[in-house]
Amino acid sequence: MNEDAAARSPDPSNPRQLAEIASYHAHVYYDGQAERRHAEWLRLRIGERFRVRLGAWHDRQVGPHGQAMYQVSFATGIFASLVPWLMLNHRGLSILIHPNTTNPKRDHLVDPIWIGRPLAVHGDSLGEDDEAEEALEVNTEPTLGA
Ligand code: ZN
Repeated sequence: MNEDAAARSPDPSNPRQLAEIASYHAHVYYDGQAERRHAEWLRLRIGERFRVRLGAWHDRQVGPHGQAMYQVSFATGIFASLVPWLMLNHRGLSILIHPNTTNPKRDHLVDPIWIGRPLAVHGDSLGEDDEAEEALEVNTEPTLGA
């Protein structure tokens, strides 16, 4: 059985391996002007502290996401500092953190974690056998510690 077939055929005696995870996304959601200001505050401070790719603002719903949001793409090595920092600093915003494997549908609908209140994710059109997305090119220049 090759690696892909193993990943598709869950076997309780064979846990999935961390190597499946090529990168992570954090999606920072906001609704209305007050929450957008929180999202701006958060985005600036993420950029000052973490080597990540800050994605475009999406002030309208896009893809499977049920609310306006921006994406933060980050390497697996950043998870242990960024995610706890977001737990402490999300200011009430909902944040979806999902792995990027070869199965985006499962990544978004079954396997993510939420900081703050979980929101609906409309993942019916997501693929189940894609190339896993590596962390996108970093566009921050952090100067502060977390
Ligand atoms: Zn994503």
